Amino acid sequence: MSRNTTATILLEHIKFNYLLANQSAPNSKNIAIIKANAYGHGLTAVAHYLKDDAAGFGVAIFDEAMLLRNNAITNEILILQGVNSKDELLIASENNLWITIHNVKQLQLLLTTPLNQSIKVSIKLDSGMHRLGLNKHDFIQAINSLCECSWVKNKMVLCSHFSSASNLTCQESKKQMATFFEVVNKVKQLNKNKEFELSLANSPALLGLPESLLDWNRPGIMLYGTTVFDTPHPLEQPLKPAMIFEAKIIGLRDIKVNDSVGYNQNWIAERSSKIATVSVGYADGYPRHAKNGTPVYLNHQVASLVGRVSMDLISIDVTDIIDVEIGDIVELWGDNIPVSLVAKHADTIAYELLTGVSNRVKRIYR
Ligand SMILES: *Cc1c(COP(=O)(O)O)cnc(C)c1O
Repeated sequence: MSRNTTATILLEHIKFNYLLANQSAPNSKNIAIIKANAYGHGLTAVAHYLKDDAAGFGVAIFDEAMLLRNNAITNEILILQGVNSKDELLIASENNLWITIHNVKQLQLLLTTPLNQSIKVSIKLDSGMHRLGLNKHDFIQAINSLCECSWVKNKMVLCSHFSSASNLTCQESKKQMATFFEVVNKVKQLNKNKEFELSLANSPALLGLPESLLDWNRPGIMLYGTTVFDTPHPLEQPLKPAMIFEAKIIGLRDIKVNDSVGYNQNWIAERSSKIATVSVGYADGYPRHAKNGTPVYLNHQVASLVGRVSMDLISIDVTDIIDVEIGDIVELWGDNIPVSLVAKHADTIAYELLTGVSNRVKRIYR
């Protein structure tokens, strides 16, 4: 019996979710964000499945972009963190990669490295998140210099990133937009003969903040079909989950009242119980901090996690589950158990769980 701890990736659902982004933003181009191994779903597999539909792909780092180019992906590829050395810049230009300038060092590198082939550039404003991006003054200066730089392609993309778009009642996104548009207007006044493109929206902004839809949006998490808002919202309901994480029962036992399960006796039976041991653990990416009571799904019923998550195993209480046998398949998250619900039980977010599914877990593409 093979271990059968698997992540089934429903590529059709990723495409469905991408097309939904297009429907929600009919006047924008949507860059499918597939950084971090496409949020755990498989970088090249997802890119190949979306390549005929996607206006472009977005990755975090240079290596991810080159992995796509080396796997015959010819779409636009935006590197969200840009490049950090002359070598990377030259290779990026040769491979027609689209770079981000988010600090003054990257700006200097670009201005002082003549390129034979012009390069597409996004320049990032820190509009309030205070993570990456230039301040207003440096942003305006940088654009002035880049407008004079012959190896920077028209049209430059002016971009920024929201800190709090997943919270629809928070005013911070409105403030960030006001800052962004104020600076963009200044840039346009100072460079009247130049054309620019604009980019702001991530997934929650794409669905919930129509004023933020500009030339290019950058949807990530919504492509993978999990919730995008902090509190459930009808706008996210059509999204289809793209990963089904499953493992098999490999042990089954009856225990008495007051018997404990797992390391450090973290869970004590309050009644005679039937406990199933499932072949998945934190080394596979099941969250170690998942609490007693985290739901799993088997034989069309919901059971719950009991005891500590081990490296390679978890235990579940199947006392009330009908017809349980060794070899039965347990859904850890997927169609029946939303990954965001598991995340809540582990005090984290779906992004962390999806990106954390380890290499040991076999991806099955459907
Ligand atoms: C990751 C990322 C995105 C996508 O965000 P989601 O919340 O997953 O939609 C967009 N823009 C930038 C700059 C990012 O880093």
